[in-house]
Amino acid sequence: MIIAVDFDGTIVEHEYPKIGKTKLYAFETLKELQKQGHQLIMWTYRAGEYEKKAVEFCRENGLEFYAVNKNYPEEVFDETISRKIYADIYIDDRNVGGFLGWSKIWQIINENSEETFLQNEKEQSLKKRGFLSFLKK
Ligand SMILES: [Mg+2]
Repeated sequence: MIIAVDFDGTIVEHEYPKIGKTKLYAFETLKELQKQGHQLIMWTYRAGEYEKKAVEFCRENGLEFYAVNKNYPEEVFDETISRKIYADIYIDDRNVGGFLGWSKIWQIINENSEETFLQNEKEQSLKKRGFLSFLKK
């Protein structure tokens, strides 16, 4: 999945333009999601120097984003494309319901994929059974 992640208030405590304290399990969770093959995009209000500082801070903590405020690294913004980046999931402290915390976020993303996996398994075995009953005829 493509996962868009906010910075201030999400990865670190909201202290913009300063960089706040890292939120509990933020980097652990994000690095683990990357290991699972998810593509992470930093999706932040920060621009210019402030954006660079956030990227640098994440890099120091071992996290390198696929792209920052872009769909892909080489994307050049102009009026022909929307400013909104495309993602399957957006992680932001301004979510409806507020920031969930990184353990909960991890749990939700992985529960969902487990459900999808089980659903696929079920469909597969139904297909197989369907095929077997077809053979018996
Ligand atoms: Mg925020």
